[in-house]
Amino acid sequence: MKQIQEFSLHTHTKLGDGYDTVEDMIIEAQKNGLKTLGISDHFWAVRHDLQKYIKTVRRAQEKLKFHVLLGMEIDNPTPERLEMLYKLKRDYGFDFFIGALHDVPYGEKKYYVGDKENKDVLQSQGFQQMYWQTLPNLANDLFDIVAHLDLVKLTGIKTETLYEKEINNALKAFKLNNQIVEINTKHSKIENEPSDTILEKIVEIKIPVVFSSDAHIKNQIVYRFEEEQQRLSGMLSKMRYISKTTELLDFLKFRNSIHNR
Ligand SMILES: [Zn+2]
Ligand SMILES: [Zn+2]
Repeated sequence: MKQIQEFSLHTHTKLGDGYDTVEDMIIEAQKNGLKTLGISDHFWAVRHDLQKYIKTVRRAQEKLKFHVLLGMEIDNPTPERLEMLYKLKRDYGFDFFIGALHDVPYGEKKYYVGDKENKDVLQSQGFQQMYWQTLPNLANDLFDIVAHLDLVKLTGIKTETLYEKEINNALKAFKLNNQIVEINTKHSKIENEPSDTILEKIVEIKIPVVFSSDAHIKNQIVYRFEEEQQRLSGMLSKMRYISKTTELLDFLKFRNSIHNR
């Protein structure tokens, strides 16, 4: 089966923590036969010069005559920041935002789930529970796509079977907010993100999905899309798998119309 998804939305560039320029990424997207490329650098990486970020993306798009969607990947925002981000999305004309949970507040501090130094804290029941309980915070009008929702496995343990109630709550909230959940292929050689157990719930609740490579380097723009699409073909046929650009744009437009602020 050939790769059929016409776009890759979750990608990082040199403007953030990626390695390649926006132009390099576009050229690679063209080479891979994509119709659309999304650029979604981390908010923390580009926030200090948003104008530069936006201009660079838009200029590259014009120069190379390619369909590019302007996005950002944003961490679980505080309520005050959420309001600011709604305004920012509208004022700067962002096409999409990806919501993600990389850092979780626990006790007095915030911990990155991949923090190797604090493994004992991260693997504690309290922290694991906090991750799953925080996840529904990503359910809102702001985020069109929810990224790697079981990233907590970077802590080195798997607790999804212990927190089924929390996970169900999160998934239902994403569904209610008409959000897309990504199937992240970045670690898919070793690990499925989300796991098959969670993916089965996604099928059941009928949450729309897309494949994301989370590429930080140009040659990974469609990393393992083909393999994962093949592996999941049975499940995908029962899901709302958004694979065409027109379908994606319609979905984003629909979200904008009902979740407009
Ligand atoms: Zn991420
Ligand atoms: Zn990312």
